Amino acid sequence: MTSVTEKKRISILYIEDNPSNRNLVRYILDEDVFDYCEAVDASTGIIAAKEIIPDIILMDINMTGMSGLEATIKIRQIPELSHIVIIAVTAKIMKGDRERILAAGCNAYIPKPIDVDTFQSKVIEVFKGGEESLNDDSSIVTYMKQNQAEIVDHLENEISNLKESRFALRMKVKELEEKNIELEHTQSMLVHSEKLAALGQLVAGIIHEIRTPLAGIMGYQQLLMDRIQDEEQKMFLDQCVKAVEKIKTIVSDMLHFSKREQKNHNDIISNKQVFENIQSLINILSKQEGIGIQIVDLQEAHYFKGNVSQVEQVLISLVSNAIFAVTEVNDDSAHIDMDPKVFVKSWGDGSKIFFEVRDKGVGMSKETMSKIFEPFFTTKPLDKGTGLGLSICKTIVDSFNGDVSVSSKMGEGTTFLVSFPIRKTRDFVS
Ligand code: MN
Repeated sequence: MTSVTEKKRISILYIEDNPSNRNLVRYILDEDVFDYCEAVDASTGIIAAKEIIPDIILMDINMTGMSGLEATIKIRQIPELSHIVIIAVTAKIMKGDRERILAAGCNAYIPKPIDVDTFQSKVIEVFKGGEESLNDDSSIVTYMKQNQAEIVDHLENEISNLKESRFALRMKVKELEEKNIELEHTQSMLVHSEKLAALGQLVAGIIHEIRTPLAGIMGYQQLLMDRIQDEEQKMFLDQCVKAVEKIKTIVSDMLHFSKREQKNHNDIISNKQVFENIQSLINILSKQEGIGIQIVDLQEAHYFKGNVSQVEQVLISLVSNAIFAVTEVNDDSAHIDMDPKVFVKSWGDGSKIFFEVRDKGVGMSKETMSKIFEPFFTTKPLDKGTGLGLSICKTIVDSFNGDVSVSSKMGEGTTFLVSFPIRKTRDFVS
């Protein structure tokens, strides 16, 4: 039963790029009469037409991409579609438009805006043979020529669009190539930082190895000290003891520093503790690089929640950067002139504890400043930095609810300020 009625329905395909027109026509056409189908542009419309072989095609004329006129001309060239009734539905009502539409091969023409009351009957009328025709058959050539001119225009546009796309594509390829280089750089940085981590472990291992014989030396020195009577020999031995003491301090600092604890121990620590621990490392750095570093004496200890070795790592990292910034200024004079160029200090106020690392180095541009906390961003040569130092610093500081900020002026220097929420001593000291 249903199959009989369905066979009687007129299949209709509406090719239209405007959704509200499609919605309107879908609503107007009686579904008992029409088997309705739609396409959003001419190319998909033609594919759909080949698929369903509709009785009628409603054809919008103005469409982006292929126009309704072009689509009609094309459909008329396709043998299995050439018989289909094509009705142009268009707002093109200028003089000659109707003729050009008919010349292209449309059977009829319904103007937009669509008249809700008459649209369906008009469609049926055309379908039943109410075909429009050109008054003068000889004028068909003129109108076809106009259609051809329009097609040529359209093709020219398409070609220039293609050229533009090709240009845009080339730019994208270039962009991708640049990104690729960046990625390769990042990868080599990663490899580098892996190496550093391995080096850290190696250093820790070596230091362990040194500590054992060091203990032996110290023990025997002590034995000698008790036995030697000669004052001069005693004096020599005393120098040995002092030198060994120094090695011991360095070794224990290095060991401390190379132990990168993974987990955050939320201990209550003090800035005094941190300063005491980094003092000798900073002295080594200072001598090694020939840069005067001043650690401003602490007035009083302030307490905060953190992890000693991680906070030390932050400060050492900032100090290393400061040294680098200073050496950039003038490599030669820096070695002679030991006037402090890097200043480390710490203080507290009612709510926060501050660590400041200030240098009289090259300074940074605003652009550099905006990127320094990004991982792998570095201004140092590849063998000098991983670009991870400051991003690690920020991660560490953040993990203790702290804050790190920077201010800098080109040619004058840079100041890093790290702060942590302060803890009152009475909170934890009985
Ligand atoms: Mn349109």
